[in-house]
Amino acid sequence: MTKDDWVGICGRLLSDRGIENFSALEICDAGREKRGPYRSTILRTPPLKLLENAWRLIDVLEWLREKNGTTGVLVTSWYRDSRYNAAVGGAANSMHMTCGAADIIKMGSIPSEVADMLEGHPDAKLFGIGRYKSFTHLDVRAMIGRPSPARWGSDD
Ligand SMILES: [Zn+2]
Repeated sequence: MTKDDWVGICGRLLSDRGIENFSALEICDAGREKRGPYRSTILRTPPLKLLENAWRLIDVLEWLREKNGTTGVLVTSWYRDSRYNAAVGGAANSMHMTCGAADIIKMGSIPSEVADMLEGHPDAKLFGIGRYKSFTHLDVRAMIGRPSPARWGSDD
């Protein structure tokens, strides 16, 4: 699927669902290039059925957006196809390959605060939460049949 096709098709599905705060290119920045020593890897679009996982994740991201004063939630990495995931050094079984994981920043909050907010979500025990210095990883693993909860990283 071309980037334009993706923006059109995914954009329509988002607007059908009334989702206004997240975009097709946040879910998959189709065509993004990861340069390696020998060749570069291009991010491909996900099979549309994986968007079911994105809708579940978006419910949580919308909740986070409203938490502690409404601010934007910025996504730095969401979907990765398996080749792209390998090229960026992702875990072999990365939840990013399911569309059900995103690395995020909530404007006005530091990553440790974002992780703490997510721990307060009613479904937190269904999540994977990774604490990193400059962002927070969130995934909805138990909603899509993976073991949970999962926690990793530190606030150092
Ligand atoms: Zn991640």
